Amino acid sequence: MVLLNPKKFNGEHLDEKSKEIMLKTINFFENMGKAKLKEKASKREWYADFLEFIKENKIFYTLVTPPEYADGDPDVRWDTWRICDFNEILAFYSLDYWYTWQVTVLGLGPIWMSKNEKIKREVAELLKNGAVFAFGLSEREHGADIYATETKLVPQPDGTYKAYGRKYYIGNSNVAAIISTFARIADPDGSLPDKPDKSRFAFFALRRDEKYYELVKNIVDAQMFVGDFLIHDYPVTEDDILEKGEEAWDAALNTVNVGKYNLGWGSIGVCTHAFYEAINHASKRRLYGMYVTDFPHVKRLFVDAYTRLVAMKLVARRACDYMRVASREDRRYLLYNAIVKSKVTREGEEVINLLWDVIAAKGFEKDTYFEMAAKHVRALPKLEGTVHVNMALILKFLPKYLFEPAEFPEVPKMDVPKHDEFLFNQGSSGGLSQVKFHDYRKAYESFELPNVNIFKEQLETFKEMCMNATPTPEQMMDFDFMTTWGEIFTLIVYGQLVLEAAKLYDIDEDLVDEIFDFLVRDFSKFAVELQSEPSCTEKQIEYCQKMIKRPYPNKERFERVVQMVYAHKDEYEMNP
Ligand SMILES: Cc1cc2nc3c(=O)[nH]c(=O)nc-3n(C[C@H](O)[C@H](O)[C@H](O)COP(=O)(O)OP(=O)(O)OC[C@H]3O[C@@H](n4cnc5c(N)ncnc54)[C@H](O)[C@@H]3O)c2cc1C
Repeated sequence: MVLLNPKKFNGEHLDEKSKEIMLKTINFFENMGKAKLKEKASKREWYADFLEFIKENKIFYTLVTPPEYADGDPDVRWDTWRICDFNEILAFYSLDYWYTWQVTVLGLGPIWMSKNEKIKREVAELLKNGAVFAFGLSEREHGADIYATETKLVPQPDGTYKAYGRKYYIGNSNVAAIISTFARIADPDGSLPDKPDKSRFAFFALRRDEKYYELVKNIVDAQMFVGDFLIHDYPVTEDDILEKGEEAWDAALNTVNVGKYNLGWGSIGVCTHAFYEAINHASKRRLYGMYVTDFPHVKRLFVDAYTRLVAMKLVARRACDYMRVASREDRRYLLYNAIVKSKVTREGEEVINLLWDVIAAKGFEKDTYFEMAAKHVRALPKLEGTVHVNMALILKFLPKYLFEPAEFPEVPKMDVPKHDEFLFNQGSSGGLSQVKFHDYRKAYESFELPNVNIFKEQLETFKEMCMNATPTPEQMMDFDFMTTWGEIFTLIVYGQLVLEAAKLYDIDEDLVDEIFDFLVRDFSKFAVELQSEPSCTEKQIEYCQKMIKRPYPNKERFERVVQMVYAHKDEYEMNP
């Protein structure tokens, strides 16, 4: 598996129709050229031309409509394998363009999960005609606390409802055909219960009828539209209801399970384009009589950026396989997705930091992709649940993952063209601590490389610490402490996914060992952080000190990887 290079993209891993979609999308941006792309971005110009292109080619319709609403067209399906490519390509050119796609994906979640057949048929028709959608979950005052949702459906004597409320941070709310809107069902007098009550939640289809819909503003200064809007006396009938009660709650969380996976690919796309710009610039710049790429610290920065980027891609590709085989009995995707969302996206920030240290002032220039990437990459860890919210989730999986492995059939590379039906039939969002995993040791045992072996020792020590120096009840309540604990656990899962994908994609052993060079360093860094926590016990400190290890030094391997990285010089440059 290599980095995306749009100029050499042959789509050989895709079926004909999917390949055509990706190539057309690449051509759309390459025909626009970098100067125009940047000019539109600096003018914060709404991308009507892009949405016209999407409509003409029925791209969203093809990529996100379930086959039962596709009039027998076999190309139309929700196929995560090709959705990865589409995410990566869009973000490669601009996260602003990616965002209109992403919030359409989110808006469609509660619709395809709904039992409301009438609306599903309508939505398929709308998609065919080029419509985009929106996901109205967030509110200004409540952030991650969706229990406190104040948008409400007030029951009317004739059995209908009236909706009232204000939503904030809602993408596409300037153009969406339907906004899947999360609300609570109020008492007939309009009051909402003080205590959270899942039976009161509802998702309804909101249409932008100006009699009832007041768009306040775009709250961001960008090409994308992230809206603030008010809903006044909006009439809602059963035909507009998507889900009610626990099903609405589950639809919210299950939609985020699907959507947040895309964030990792967003990050990969952003970092890949930034990487090409950085290497093209640095490899031609001469200072003090030598090329910048010959400085030893620049070699290190590039190797770290590249290995982190390759690891991000390996993890995201492998997580895709688990998403595509998921079932009510196999919910491993819930952990892997949370890691793609929270870890891959933060690794993306790190890649940009490293590259920026290389290209320095160049990264501020207005005609670079990089200056846009530096801002865009920061958004991804914050969308669809912050890093902390995901860390709280990840920690729930720790006991079963580390201590109670279960048997599962081997999961192959899931590149078959098929509809991922289960994503819209995920069932209850609860029971996370009961989710079973296969034995992670299989992946680790399949590699005998110096840094992988050092990592295995760190991992074993962490496991011992989990058994013999379990967090105290006070530490369990201290999320600062538990976040660092979770960071170490996350590295173990991350390493497992890297190794599984490395086998499937036949990744060079030098590269795998160099990836584990930074993973060993990161493990040590978190061990230092954990032992610095004020509440860390003597026994935990002892274990932490044992976990601090240095990677195996190998200058020859490092130089070979440097050559691998530098081979990307002048491989890609966007059309001017
Ligand atoms: C550009 C952009 C586009 C967006 N688009 C949409 C959209 O289309 N639709 C939509 O519905 N929303 C959208 N959002 C909202 C986004 O999903 C929220 O930003 C996100 O849910 C977090 O809310 P918050 O930023 O208000 O943070 P807050 O919830 O205010 O969090 C504050 C702090 O508390 C921590 N925290 C909160 N809860 C927990 C917890 N349970 N455990 C541990 N720590 C916790 C957080 O990590 C954070 O550090 C968008 C946001 C942005 C910035």
